[in-house]
Amino acid sequence: MKILVTGGAGYIGSITSAELVRAGHEVIVIDNLYQGHRAAVPAEAVFIEADLADRRTLSNIFAAYPGIDGIMHFASYTLVGESMEKPFLYLRDNVANAANLLEAAIAAGVRRFILSSTANLFDQPERIPIAENERIVPGSPYGESKFFIERMLHWMARIYGMRYACLRYFNACGDTPNRGEDHDPETHLIPIVLQVALGQRPYVTIFGDDYPTRDGTCVRDYIHVLDLASAHILAMEALDRLGERRYNLGNGQGFTVREVIETARKVTGHPIPAVVGPRRPGDPAVLVASSETIRAELGWQPRFTDLESIIASAWEWHRTHPNGYDD
Ligand code: UDP
Repeated sequence: MKILVTGGAGYIGSITSAELVRAGHEVIVIDNLYQGHRAAVPAEAVFIEADLADRRTLSNIFAAYPGIDGIMHFASYTLVGESMEKPFLYLRDNVANAANLLEAAIAAGVRRFILSSTANLFDQPERIPIAENERIVPGSPYGESKFFIERMLHWMARIYGMRYACLRYFNACGDTPNRGEDHDPETHLIPIVLQVALGQRPYVTIFGDDYPTRDGTCVRDYIHVLDLASAHILAMEALDRLGERRYNLGNGQGFTVREVIETARKVTGHPIPAVVGPRRPGDPAVLVASSETIRAELGWQPRFTDLESIIASAWEWHRTHPNGYDD
């Protein structure tokens, strides 16, 4: 298939692009390089530096690359904390950029779409693990922006026959030997812990240890980025028979912040000092996914289910790329 990947220079987008290429698909990447890295884009992919805010450029791209079979939409502002401080980047820009992309795609006749969505739709889960029929309570403007785009896709399906899947990621993590997580500033737990192991930070701060969990720190469901990539590809290949779908994507196992730090100590052999700080606003105590639906419908199977192999894969990339992509 010929797949347009927005945000294909970013962490999850670039690794999925590489997996698409490996599976024999043709890939066209659009990225504004705000957080993405040119070097992360696979050499076999077409790369276009463009911003989804620019509607004219988007139409030109669809005109210049006819016959696009489907879109994977990764490009987005992605930080819960930032969205509490700059809500309009999310409530306006994330939503408007998706609308621009969809409008241009529909005009060009594209009818397959995979959305990067989020576990932040489930701020107050009533049942753990969290299934697709859980009540939606976005935890931040970030989550709300993704919910809005999910609803937009529903109407695109009703009105234009768009086939789509919303993949609600829990905690994406892990790296591949050539591509990894390189955000500036870095806010995610695993890369921060590994920066401590590399001597780039003196310690990691644990955001609260008074949660109602087994050791008082937050529980998250860490899912390897290659397992996310395989879910995207399976979903894209199956969209014609699926129609409209929403899938929660995690390992179904939760690990605490302290368990992540302890596992990283074991993997890296570094003591990784940790200090306890206040809670981070917007963090629910426990987020663990039920991925039964995508397992049953698409036969998806995560390959990296234990924390040690996930952190080992991340350590391999961070150890060999201590300055990230260095661009
Ligand atoms: N966390 C932490 N210290 C950090 C970064 C994160 O204690 O420096 C915690 C955070 O509160 C959350 C978990 O680690 O409970 C995962 O956070 P991350 O930002 O990686 O992902 P999120 O859960 O926000 O998607």
